Amino acid sequence: MYIRVLGSAAGGGFPQWNCGCQNCDGVRKGTIVASPRTQECLAVSSDGEAWFLVNASPEIRQQIESFPALRPRSSRGTPIAGILVTNGDLDHCLGLLCLREWQRFSVYATARVRDGFARNVFARTLARFDGQVTWRPFEPGRETSLELGTGEPSGLDVVALPVPGKAPLHLADMGTSPEDNVALRIGDTRTGARLAYLSGVAGPSEAVAQAVRDADVVFFDGTFWSSDELIRLGASDKRAEDMAHWPIGGDGGSLAALASLPARRKIFTHVNNTNPILRDGSPERRAVEAAGFEVAFDGLELHA
Ligand SMILES: [Zn+2]
Ligand SMILES: [Zn+2]
Repeated sequence: MYIRVLGSAAGGGFPQWNCGCQNCDGVRKGTIVASPRTQECLAVSSDGEAWFLVNASPEIRQQIESFPALRPRSSRGTPIAGILVTNGDLDHCLGLLCLREWQRFSVYATARVRDGFARNVFARTLARFDGQVTWRPFEPGRETSLELGTGEPSGLDVVALPVPGKAPLHLADMGTSPEDNVALRIGDTRTGARLAYLSGVAGPSEAVAQAVRDADVVFFDGTFWSSDELIRLGASDKRAEDMAHWPIGGDGGSLAALASLPARRKIFTHVNNTNPILRDGSPERRAVEAAGFEVAFDGLELHA
């Protein structure tokens, strides 16, 4: 299985346009050791030819261009066979609207995420012709084969598991559902490699444990280091948990909970611009690395 991180920041990216926090200011001025990051997106492939994206960030055009394997191989076309969406937050699905150039593609998402997305008037730009976008529903807990445009199997399958999360802010009137937010377990049918992808997790649950248990590679919600990160900056009155993100640090943090996972690679992604793990050599970054975790960056590639 080929894996390439196209974007590794939480919503807003790093630096974020309206943020002058220590990290954003420092990365602009070059006064900290850190790399800018686009909003979270992953590319995955069994054979290195046909690719699937996990989430569609608003920066998707630039992200596709950044990775030669995703470029067209004829006068019109794409090696991207489909897009898997983990929740309806704009940083995870706004990019779908940017793919409106008369190209057929498939979107894998829960019915709940699909219905929420379809509520916006711009969704019609993906219905310009019959069959432009094929929505393929995740049935929680059930294995789905990821298909090529021809309908043939791609060599990858996926299981979506509902994990603690929340509906996007703009869909608060829809109430909440377990299908608002899912973890993905992507398997390579040829090599048996297993990837667990959990870029948004509000806290521990049985499904979270199940998703990561025997994965070779785990990507995990690295949004915030601490619960009160935004409050201390004066940037928000919301705690990490209020925003459906499990903080990494502290006694009840995800780092302590996942430290004993046997996965070969454990990687925090969807990192918010305020998170101190973005700074090379910070105490928080060292704590993450000492526990066997990495911090995702745009362009990170691995084989599983
Ligand atoms: Zn997000
Ligand atoms: Zn910032």
